[in-house]
Amino acid sequence: MKYLDEYRDAKGVNTLVNAIAARVTQPWTLMEICGGQTHAILKYGLDRLLPPQIRLIHGPGCPVCVTAQIKIDQALHMAMQPGVIFCSFGDMLRVPGSRYDLLGVKAQGADVRMVYSPLDALTLARENPDKQVVFFAVGFETTAPSTAMALLQARRFGVGNFSVLVAHVRVPPAMEVLLSAPDNRVQGFLAAGHVCAVMGYWEYEPLAERFRLPIIVTGFEPLDILQGILACVEQLEQGRACVENHYGRAVTHAGNVAAQSLMNQVFMPVDLEWRGLGCIAGSGLGMRPEFKELNADTRFDLSGVAEVEENRCMSGDVLTGRIKPDQCPAFARPCTPEHPLGATMVSSEGACAAYYRYRR
Ligand code: SF4
Repeated sequence: MKYLDEYRDAKGVNTLVNAIAARVTQPWTLMEICGGQTHAILKYGLDRLLPPQIRLIHGPGCPVCVTAQIKIDQALHMAMQPGVIFCSFGDMLRVPGSRYDLLGVKAQGADVRMVYSPLDALTLARENPDKQVVFFAVGFETTAPSTAMALLQARRFGVGNFSVLVAHVRVPPAMEVLLSAPDNRVQGFLAAGHVCAVMGYWEYEPLAERFRLPIIVTGFEPLDILQGILACVEQLEQGRACVENHYGRAVTHAGNVAAQSLMNQVFMPVDLEWRGLGCIAGSGLGMRPEFKELNADTRFDLSGVAEVEENRCMSGDVLTGRIKPDQCPAFARPCTPEHPLGATMVSSEGACAAYYRYRR
C-alpha cells in the first residue's frame, strides 16, 4: 500500500475485524501505548467493531498528559519572571498547573509563545539577545532528538540566553511499571510506531520475554491498528510472547541510529516523576552535566515552587488504564476541553479529549 486512504479502506477493515473474530476464543485485554492510537481507535470506532472478547485499554502514551504537575508549576514560575520569553508546544499552553496554566499567565502579561520546534525557540533567542528564552521540552523519544539538536546548536553558536526545561520521557520503563503492578491487566501491548521509528524495537524484547506477553509495533491508521490487534491475538491464542514489527514502512529493528546518537550526546536516563505513575527509575531523559549551562533548572531559582496535592482529576487512573475517561465523575461536566481539570482533557493526544470528541 502506498497511499494513506488505503490504510483506511472499509473492506480491509471488515476483513481484519472478521479475522480477529475468527481467531479469538477467550477474553484478552490489550493496551495501546500511544495517545495518537487512542484517538484513531475512538475516531474510527475500532473498539466497537471488535468482538466483545477484545478489551482495549488506553495507556500513558501522551507526553503532555504524563508530565507531573510540579514540572508545569516550574514552567509557570519561569514564564512569570521578567525578561523571559517562555516557549512551548501548543498542547501545553492550557494544561492546568496547581493555580494557572500558561495561557493564564500570558493573559497576566507573561511573554509565552507557542512554537512548532525547539529550533524555533532557539531562533527567538538569537533574535532577542536581551531576553532569556526558555523552551519547555516535552515528549517521548520521538521529539527528544530535535531538542538535542537545538541544544547542540545553541552551544555551537554560543547562544547564551537560551535554556531548556526538560520533561522528556522514555516508554519502556513505564511499560515495565504497568506490567509489574499487582493489579496489572495488560496481556498484550500495541507499541507506538513513531517512538519505534526513532528507537527501533530492540528495547522491547527483554520486556516481552520477562513478562511473557506480545508487543506489536503498530502504526496509526485503522488497518495498522487492526493488523496489530490481530497479530497480538494470534500470539496470545498460540501462547507465544515476542515483539513483532507491523509498521515496517517506518520502523526497523535498530531504529534511527543518527537520532539516537544525537540524544545520547545530550541526554542520559534519569529517574522522573510521572503523573499517575509516580517516580519511575530511568524513565526520564535528563541533560548531561556538561550541558548544565543550558539547563533551565539551574538558571532559575525554583526553591519557591512546591509540590501540591493533585486536584480531583482522575487522570492517573486514566493513564494507567484503570478507568476509561467516561467513568470519571467529572467527565464532560464540569471537565471539558474549554475548562479542563486535567491534562488528559486538553492535550491533542489525551484519552479524555478523545472520548469527549468522539464518544459523548
Ligand atoms: S475527565 Fe477531566 S477530571 Fe476526569 S480524568 Fe479526564 S481530565 Fe481528569
